[in-house]
Amino acid sequence: MSPPIVRFAPSPTGRIHIGNARTALMNFLFARKHHGQFILRFDDTDVERSKEEYAQAIEVDLAWLGIHPDLIFRQSQRVPFYHAATEKLRAAGRLYPCYETAEELDRRRKRQQARGQPPIYDRAALALTAEERARLEAEGRRPHWRFKLDHQIVRWNDLVRGESHIDCASLSDPILLREDSTYLYTLPSVVDDIEFKSSHVIRGEDHVTNTAVQIQLFEALAGPEAIPGFGHHNLLVSASGEGLSKRSGALSIAALRDSGIESLALAAFAILTGTSDSVHPVASLDALAEALDLSHVSRNQARFDPDELAGLSARTLHQMPYEAVRDRLSMHDISGYKAEAFWLAVRGNLSVFLDVVDWWRVVEGEIVSIVEDPEFLEQARALLPQEPWDAGTWARWTEALKARTGRKGKVLFHPLRLALTGREAGPELAALLPLIGRLNSEARLSARSASSHPGP
Ligand code: GLU
Repeated sequence: MSPPIVRFAPSPTGRIHIGNARTALMNFLFARKHHGQFILRFDDTDVERSKEEYAQAIEVDLAWLGIHPDLIFRQSQRVPFYHAATEKLRAAGRLYPCYETAEELDRRRKRQQARGQPPIYDRAALALTAEERARLEAEGRRPHWRFKLDHQIVRWNDLVRGESHIDCASLSDPILLREDSTYLYTLPSVVDDIEFKSSHVIRGEDHVTNTAVQIQLFEALAGPEAIPGFGHHNLLVSASGEGLSKRSGALSIAALRDSGIESLALAAFAILTGTSDSVHPVASLDALAEALDLSHVSRNQARFDPDELAGLSARTLHQMPYEAVRDRLSMHDISGYKAEAFWLAVRGNLSVFLDVVDWWRVVEGEIVSIVEDPEFLEQARALLPQEPWDAGTWARWTEALKARTGRKGKVLFHPLRLALTGREAGPELAALLPLIGRLNSEARLSARSASSHPGP
């Protein structure tokens, strides 16, 4: 395949949610896999609802996911090109003015339905004479403009759904321009895909019907060579089966990030869920790009299960190498000669990355030891080997303690964990002990719990 050019085209009317991120990632990783380009296009022709702050927030969210576009542009800056395309369609007789109000159209649709007919626009406006149009305009009516479809079957080979077709005779001629001369999404998208040479349009299956219309627009504006490939992925729905919306903030990328979800896990979840592949942790976006295969995307809805994502995020941390987190650790003052061994010791116990702060305190800082059996701990303290300590120290020390006290298993190990870490459970003590060091260990083993030793 020659290097593809793809685009992600959100309208900046809210923060993006995980469903939008899925579309963005499919495009971005498709480009990455085939050494192509990824364009971020803001579909902001709806000036009422589009906001610059949302556009900026979307860029931030994408960057957090590791998505850095090769090019970013806004449709609001390209209106003259849309006007030119409109002129071309008008000159070719493919664009016609319509004067029906929304209420009139609604009445007509109801009448068609009552007669058992499909609610398709009847092209009444095409039959208007010049005088009739002039009279309507004199009444103060402003036209909206419809694209005259060829009543033919449009076919394409969908990257996800395979051979697809839509009979355009079953569709209403789509409105391209509103009464106030603003554009609906359909035409600007095609004009931009032509101009920026989109090779593939990968988007949600809610756009399947638009595809037939847009293929006719590509043909009318630039000929059949301009028609890109199309791939329509299944949509992500909430656990209860509802569609996701930009207004439901809880599933926004920002909210998931703030709850501690790893961006790499979110990406893996987005790409693998709702496909025939298993949802598993990946080591990098490149590895995920390799795993991406749009033909594996299911025709059924993809379900978003927050627990599954949280579990994947934890498993992603559990296998992350130190190099991948070095900078993030040092932002929490976790650095120096112990940092790498610390990461390798604790990563398997993390639910979210920030748990490291707590474990670093166990290694380096003040903790409240839990002392249940002071005499035993005193024996343990007395047997602490001399430094230097290494991964074998724990085994040597507990062997000696076992020989001295006759204890084994949980009664041997658990009081040591409670005293040394102040926690019921956690990483392997063999790995933690050398990090805690002799000085800290001695102090914690000799700590007196308030209940057993009231103190001076
Ligand atoms: N702005 C459209 C959307 O968010 C873009 C669809 C497309 O990719 O063509 O649904």
